[in-house]
Amino acid sequence: MKEIFQHIDDHLNDSIAELTELCKLPSVSAQGTAIEETAEHVEALLRDLGFETKIMPKPESGQTGGSKAQPVVYGELRGESPKTLLFYDHYDVQPAEPLDLWSTPPFQPTLRDGKLFARGVSDNKGNIVARLTAVRAWRDIKGKLPCSVKFCIEGDEEIGSPQMEEFVDEHQDLLSADACLWEGGGVTWEGIPQVTFGVKGLLYVELECETVNRDAHSSYATVLPNAAWRLVWALSTIKGPDERVLIDGFYDSVRPATPEEQAALEAIPSEEAETLESYGIDRAVAGVSGLDYTKRYLMDPTGNIDGLTSGYEDEGAKTVLPAKALAKMDFRLVPDQDPDEIVELIRKHLASNGFEDVKVRLLAGERAARTPVTDPFVQVMRDAVRAAYNAEPIILPTMAGTGPLHPFVSTLGLPTGDCGIGYPDARIHAPNENIRIEDFRNGAKAVAALIGRFGE
Ligand SMILES: [Zn+2]
Repeated sequence: MKEIFQHIDDHLNDSIAELTELCKLPSVSAQGTAIEETAEHVEALLRDLGFETKIMPKPESGQTGGSKAQPVVYGELRGESPKTLLFYDHYDVQPAEPLDLWSTPPFQPTLRDGKLFARGVSDNKGNIVARLTAVRAWRDIKGKLPCSVKFCIEGDEEIGSPQMEEFVDEHQDLLSADACLWEGGGVTWEGIPQVTFGVKGLLYVELECETVNRDAHSSYATVLPNAAWRLVWALSTIKGPDERVLIDGFYDSVRPATPEEQAALEAIPSEEAETLESYGIDRAVAGVSGLDYTKRYLMDPTGNIDGLTSGYEDEGAKTVLPAKALAKMDFRLVPDQDPDEIVELIRKHLASNGFEDVKVRLLAGERAARTPVTDPFVQVMRDAVRAAYNAEPIILPTMAGTGPLHPFVSTLGLPTGDCGIGYPDARIHAPNENIRIEDFRNGAKAVAALIGRFGE
């Protein structure tokens, strides 16, 4: 690996220049800007490295909404061994707003203090270029990759990966591989690399009720039903002050931690103190602490209110009885909870509590997925990351967040993990998104080591 690592060191400036060019493209999926251009740019980068490439449309519509999806950039490069690694990434980025909070413009990548600042530089363009850097090093030094590599780079991850499940379903042969390297990953505040093997799912719903046909003078509150109260009462049946979701059957399909997952959880350094301090509180929800804190954070499903809207919300007093009320809620799901089943449980729960009038609208549903920590690929990734960082990585059985991992793990049957170039102050999705060049260098080496180990 020495020569390969040396090549990455020697060409670091070229890699950063490549990343800079990619980050100049404002490929904001939510706003539909520069999507085609960026897909073509990424395709050209792959083609220059010898990949066979194509830009592929996603299916017209999926189960969770019929919005038009952006195309996927696909690339494939044959290697020496019969094994194939699939890399999942995305070329789209989050909106850069609010622009006035950026120290330098989001789409004019700027290098300062050993960091590169730009929208998308960490999430996820830096990972794309780090992976290309690793491939280039192998190709330049050995002429060939130790294993075959496929890239699947989508264009609307940041708006929830519409139709990804269907895309994977339709292209199972093309995407077939032996393991998958997911996007993201990085190091902790202390610089310890983390490798993650799962995601939570997500169910996003709106709950809406309408009690009368128009807003009324609040003197009618003695005789007319108030929509805000109605919704608050309905919500209070969904979760109690002990933070347990009260929907009948909600926890039934939650898979308990295996002994190996339990052991992995015990080895994760706790972030409890830093998190509580940074949010200005001294006690976590439900009073959990220590291992229970880590376990609850990573392994438990949530029931979260994202927003509440009803009646008068501006300055000063307005005496009104609102006719309508709306709540937005998300539930982060864990294996084997099914978003379609959970949404039905919510409807049934509301009806059986006398809230048939509260309408439940499904906005998004994604399943959770995990690769067992006992899978041999976990060891391969652990070895690769250790070789690149000279440090023992932390193994996370899952992240607390969500991504379209499920079809890769379940439909394609791929063990899937991530290791990447991020760090806790990367400010992804926020102003001043950045990477540290050192993390980029180490992250590219980890991918190179993974390609090497995987081909053995
Ligand atoms: Zn993101």
